[in-house]
Amino acid sequence: MARNEVLVVTGGGRGIGAATALLAAERGYRVCVNYRSDEAAAAGVVERVRAAGGTAVAVRADVTTTAEVERLFETAEAELGPLTALVNNAGTLEKQSRLDELDEDRLNRIWTTNITGPFLCAAAAVRRMSTRYGGGGGAIVNVGSAASRLGSPSEYVDYAASKGALDSMTTGLALEVAGEGIRVNAVRPGLIHTGIHALGGEPGRVDRIGPNLPLGRGGQPEEIAEAILYLLSPAASYITGAFLDAAGGR
Ligand code: NAP
Repeated sequence: MARNEVLVVTGGGRGIGAATALLAAERGYRVCVNYRSDEAAAAGVVERVRAAGGTAVAVRADVTTTAEVERLFETAEAELGPLTALVNNAGTLEKQSRLDELDEDRLNRIWTTNITGPFLCAAAAVRRMSTRYGGGGGAIVNVGSAASRLGSPSEYVDYAASKGALDSMTTGLALEVAGEGIRVNAVRPGLIHTGIHALGGEPGRVDRIGPNLPLGRGGQPEEIAEAILYLLSPAASYITGAFLDAAGGR
């Protein structure tokens, strides 16, 4: 059972982020559930945590904006105590398209949400957790994607490339802060049952492709949360800069 652990989960109101927030609270973390627009979903997660005797707060912040990210971490620490963990989970994708159909505005939206957001949040977390800044150390888990390996042809190469950038950040930051008490790892999910596929225009995508995967099905958000919580935990104390693929064998 985690003691005095304070976790920020970006995009914690729905999907993988919500499952992560709930499992972390069950394991004793005090949890800050960040969301951008779906206030009801985030409030629902907080309510479930509190009903089970845990501690959680919901904080609205767009992770692509420095000022909002600062306010997110300031609020989390004011409400819950010194930060010890970050799950960089918030992410997005857009309508399934070929690369030659993508325009500049879409590319910039994908880069800012999936790359700038995790960079800003990781920086805010390092400034609070690193021994270099007087912090007590901690752990960061980036939620990448199997897409960084597969490339997502004819669906969203932009999304896949953004997750490739997150892979590079995981490696670089892990090495940068390894001597400062912070471990940085990534979980790379495959096809998981969440609302994100509707953004691509195919809500039933997991049911279409799942049966063709080696494990014969899509995954559940709770299965990804287990992988994330493992990498955050002391059980993973000698693991940094690692990628845990949770993609049904693909
Ligand atoms: P989801 O159900 O669509 O949830 C996405 C979450 O991200 C929402 O809570 C949303 O907030 C939040 N969010 C989006 N943009 C944000 C921003 N700018 N600032 C703050 N929060 C923001 O997606 P999911 O499937 O759980 O995905 C979670 C992560 O897993 C993403 O990084 C995704 O790329 C990755 N992933 C998912 C799959 C999959 O098959 N589902 C596979 C591989 C990787 P609101 O609720 O307020 O809108």
